[in-house]
Amino acid sequence: MSNQEPGFATLAVHAGSQPDPATGARITPIYQTASFVFDDVDHAASLFGLQAFGNIYTRITNPTTAVLEERVAALEGGTAALATASGHSAQLLVMHAMMMPGDEFISSKKLYGGSINQFGHSFKSFGWQVNWAEGIDPADFDAAVTDKTKAIFIESLANPGGVVMDINGIAEVARKHKIPLIVDNTLASPYLCRPIEHGADIVVHSLTKFLGGHGNSMGGIIVDGGTFNWSQDDRYPILSEPRPEYNGLVLHETFGNFAFAIACRVLGLRDLGPAISPTNAFNIITGIETLPLRMQRHCDNALEVAKYLESHDKVAWVSYAALESDPYHDLQQRYMPNGGGAVLTFGVKGGYDAGVSVVSNVEIFSHLANIGDTRSLIIHPASTTHKQLDDEQKTAAGAGPDVLRLSVGIEDASDLIADLEQALEG
Ligand SMILES: *Cc1c(COP(=O)(O)O)cnc(C)c1O
Repeated sequence: MSNQEPGFATLAVHAGSQPDPATGARITPIYQTASFVFDDVDHAASLFGLQAFGNIYTRITNPTTAVLEERVAALEGGTAALATASGHSAQLLVMHAMMMPGDEFISSKKLYGGSINQFGHSFKSFGWQVNWAEGIDPADFDAAVTDKTKAIFIESLANPGGVVMDINGIAEVARKHKIPLIVDNTLASPYLCRPIEHGADIVVHSLTKFLGGHGNSMGGIIVDGGTFNWSQDDRYPILSEPRPEYNGLVLHETFGNFAFAIACRVLGLRDLGPAISPTNAFNIITGIETLPLRMQRHCDNALEVAKYLESHDKVAWVSYAALESDPYHDLQQRYMPNGGGAVLTFGVKGGYDAGVSVVSNVEIFSHLANIGDTRSLIIHPASTTHKQLDDEQKTAAGAGPDVLRLSVGIEDASDLIADLEQALEG
């Protein structure tokens, strides 16, 4: 066998999968079963005690899902991964493994609208406090750190504003304060950006978007970078102290550089329960095989559409980091040189009403709340995804009244431009 390290496209097709050992099936089968038979009583005991790896029950592990986990871990350059039912449940399990009631974390305000709600409202019931960084500079994150801060959370390419974050700079702040940096890499995908290479400790994804890629299956994933030392002080007791339910086992001591992924699985997934279905895992594995092809086409189409919109007299502004005129262009060139992704926002002259008119007039673009489909999608965040936020939060999140968000698909760019042309004409 060759000694060459496989490239990204090869990993996207092969990582984690083998022909099925039982049947020779070339494609990973959908192991559509809730539970698995033990070899004998001792085998069962060792699985339950975490002395051996193996399948017990699909809430905790499943062989189809395991291929998905290994593949995404390889694409992101992590040590291990844990797939979940949705992107939001991945975020929940990450925080559940590192936060205790009364703890705090810092987040960028440039976030997916659902994450702003999850962090600002639902997490309060767990006693977890989010502190929003004032701006997006590393210094804004540094200024928000308190002695209760347990983590920093950012999106690499932020939804919906097209903001590219300075991952290295923010990772330095995290390292200085001995806290992990968590990066939501959903919009960029590992094809465009691999945050662990830039200092992130944990990566999360909504697999529902570009990794699955076809708008047909919900899923989320947590990738453990294996980079963070959970035992350097007493701030992460879930990882560094004996677990009563596992006979006093210390997760970090036992599992080393993939202890965080294990903690999310054997505590969070086991007890909170948001497991992905094997069928959805299968659909997402299939989607990942074409990730490099799709993502490049998404980027090429989005750049053409962005250039068209930039020159349109009914368009006030376009935010897309791959445009040379964009304020985030330098950061895009540094962190995601293959392209600016599929998602872009633009402002229509005429504000809220003009925005509503465009989403009502499009024909090829689907008006819906999603991104990362092969199909082109459009939404008016102020009347939908970001509707729950107050005006100040809307603008801070890049979702003001005139903003339209596109997720540019992989159709012919000329057809997409013609559709927007007629929709803007109204
Ligand atoms: C969609 C999305 C999520 C939430 O993922 P779900 O799979 O819908 O739960 C989180 N972050 C970003 C950036 C997203 O686009």
